[in-house]
Amino acid sequence: VKAPAFEYYRPKTVLQAIELLQKFGDEAQILAGGQSLVPMLNMRLAQPAALIDVNGIQEISHISEEADTVRIGATARYFEIGSSSLVRRYLPLLTQAMPLVAHVAIRNRGTIGGSICLSDPAAELPACCLAMGATMILAGPNGTRSVPADSFATGLYETARAPNELLVGIVFPKARLDERFFIEEFSRRRGDFAIVGVVGRLKVETGIIRQARVVFFGCGATSVLATRTAKCFENKSWSEDVAATADAVLAEELEPLGSIHGSVRYRRKIARVLLRDVIARSVH
Ligand SMILES: Cc1cc2nc3c(=O)[nH]c(=O)nc-3n(C[C@H](O)[C@H](O)[C@H](O)COP(=O)(O)OP(=O)(O)OC[C@H]3O[C@@H](n4cnc5c(N)ncnc54)[C@H](O)[C@@H]3O)c2cc1C
Repeated sequence: VKAPAFEYYRPKTVLQAIELLQKFGDEAQILAGGQSLVPMLNMRLAQPAALIDVNGIQEISHISEEADTVRIGATARYFEIGSSSLVRRYLPLLTQAMPLVAHVAIRNRGTIGGSICLSDPAAELPACCLAMGATMILAGPNGTRSVPADSFATGLYETARAPNELLVGIVFPKARLDERFFIEEFSRRRGDFAIVGVVGRLKVETGIIRQARVVFFGCGATSVLATRTAKCFENKSWSEDVAATADAVLAEELEPLGSIHGSVRYRRKIARVLLRDVIARSVH
């Protein structure tokens, strides 16, 4: 298993990277952490004419704070995000999520931008972005544009990013003090991709769930925002009756894909169990 021949470029700026993307179009692949792309090259599932290594672009690697938001550069690595005090303070869900992403060796190299652009339906970070209402910042030949997480993933491993665009960062709203976050997943071995996962946030006032946003991953072609299921428990306290209603709506709302790792029925069942568990824990 050897990668096919390709030209290799290591731009120092976003502008240089975009010039290269313009030149090669969809014949180019961006190399970030390489944790998915390099195996794909070695198995010849990807055969790009050029690799554009973005690891030397300093301007897209930082984690920074503004008044109400935190911006994470596309090439920030998982271990940097997991150990950032800024992230722990303002984006606690990401701190919670990071140990669930793959293994230590992969977290040392893998980047948030790589995860978002690969858009694996079982990946934690695209689902976290959706749950938190993040915005993707894309740079292209005509400047930058913002795409909300709600419309970034467009299909199985497909995103709204054009071939001549580079993801430069992700902007997250800072968590508010009255928000509670949760993430839980079921996988065969620790570090494997999730068979089913759930992530979200709740606003709870004296035992009443005022607002809920719930996202499932590993359950479809993209992460799934379960809006109708979340509505079942808004403005209610969590009880067996409310949970049973949510079970029924979830069974209609979720359309998981079956695979060797789990049938449609099995995935629906795991999703139901995970949801009950995280909501009960978050409310009490
Ligand atoms: C054994 C194993 C277990 C894993 N388990 C998990 C898991 O549990 N959860 C999980 O989420 N992931 C898991 N992964 C995947 C891992 O998280 C990858 O690192 C991630 O999917 C891709 O990130 P990367 O930085 O390595 O990107 P790369 O592999 O370098 O790139 C991935 C794709 O994104 C594109 N890309 C990268 N950066 C940009 C950018 N800035 N702009 C535009 N396009 C870009 C590349 O061109 C490529 O197509 C696992 C991987 C392995 C090998």
